[in-house]
Amino acid sequence: MHYLDHAATTPVPPEVAQAMLEALTKDFGNPSAQYAPGRQAKGIVDRGRAVIAGALGAKPEQIFFTSCGTEGDNWAIRAALHQNRRVGRHIVTTAVEHSAVLQCVKQLEREGYSATYVKPDREGRISAEAVLSALREDTAVVSVMLVNNETGAVFPVEEIASELKNRPVLLHTDAVQGFLKIPFTAKSLGADYITLSAHKVGGPKGIGALYIGGRANHTLPLLFGGGQENGLRPGTEAVAQIAGFARAVELRMARREEISSHLAACRDYAREKLAAIPELRFVGPAGAPHILSVSLPGYPSQNIVNELSGKGIYISAGSACHRGRVSHVLSAMGLDRRTAAGTVRLSFGPETVLADIDALSDALLEHKNTRFPML
Ligand code: PLP
Repeated sequence: MHYLDHAATTPVPPEVAQAMLEALTKDFGNPSAQYAPGRQAKGIVDRGRAVIAGALGAKPEQIFFTSCGTEGDNWAIRAALHQNRRVGRHIVTTAVEHSAVLQCVKQLEREGYSATYVKPDREGRISAEAVLSALREDTAVVSVMLVNNETGAVFPVEEIASELKNRPVLLHTDAVQGFLKIPFTAKSLGADYITLSAHKVGGPKGIGALYIGGRANHTLPLLFGGGQENGLRPGTEAVAQIAGFARAVELRMARREEISSHLAACRDYAREKLAAIPELRFVGPAGAPHILSVSLPGYPSQNIVNELSGKGIYISAGSACHRGRVSHVLSAMGLDRRTAAGTVRLSFGPETVLADIDALSDALLEHKNTRFPML
């Protein structure tokens, strides 16, 4: 098979599966229990937290495990609004966020908050000026993603953070697609909340982390219950998931530079190969190394995805989270209907080989030559 959808989710390396298996079978104790198996499990949670913190250059006590990136996004935005409740009830975000942010903000609007959705330019870029000019006296929170999951565009979170430093506005960034793909630390980004998700970096699904640092304090608990995660996100810890997340991060950290250049080499090779297909258009700016968005204008992307899937080549039509719907990202970019409808996303991982890209390029060329545009 030719798996080219690493931005949707990633294969789990055997070492990660092994770490999880051990946590499930050998270290099955409840981390809150005061006897040896409990302490053993607690050790896994503590080490996991230290690994994630290390990868962000943060302190372990600034890392809170969540059940996924979606949870981290929702929690961060609500916690920031709660902390800044005396500042106001206005949120600034972008029109191209993942639905984990967009739908959360839409719900907050239904609850009486107001929001401004900053539009990207035609290439899918968001400028710091556009975000800053959306600020109002009553803006409490800014939420801007680090890397867009459909186009790979990298947004200027650092610049926004340094401009917000002297204003009472908290900054959240969804770094799910940026983590271990582009270099950053919690300090270099300067955001108060940073969302991560394990399954985009070789870890298991169902575990993520939220960094809470910078000016964030008095954090609103996500749930109310026991004392886990410092009482802010109670619930018995997902020990095996945490073990897998940490192992995945260790593996990627150990080969960080090599993986980055491999991803960039895959993207550049794909650009070169695909440029030979007449009519094919590249969508979005040169951004994070693992994502390349392309369009065959007029050829419905779902048909392309289905046909390639029949050949064992797996890519996604826009964002995997928006199956069947016209992508809000491509519409916000103002792409014409034919280009937007024909857009597919290719995304690469450490396991990608150039033969995967050759297979994809041949299949796209054949699709174009044997199918008529339908739009
Ligand atoms: N944010 C971005 C940018 C994503 O790409 C995703 C997953 O597609 C998420 C958030 C949600 O993460 P999770 O699947 O862990 O809920």
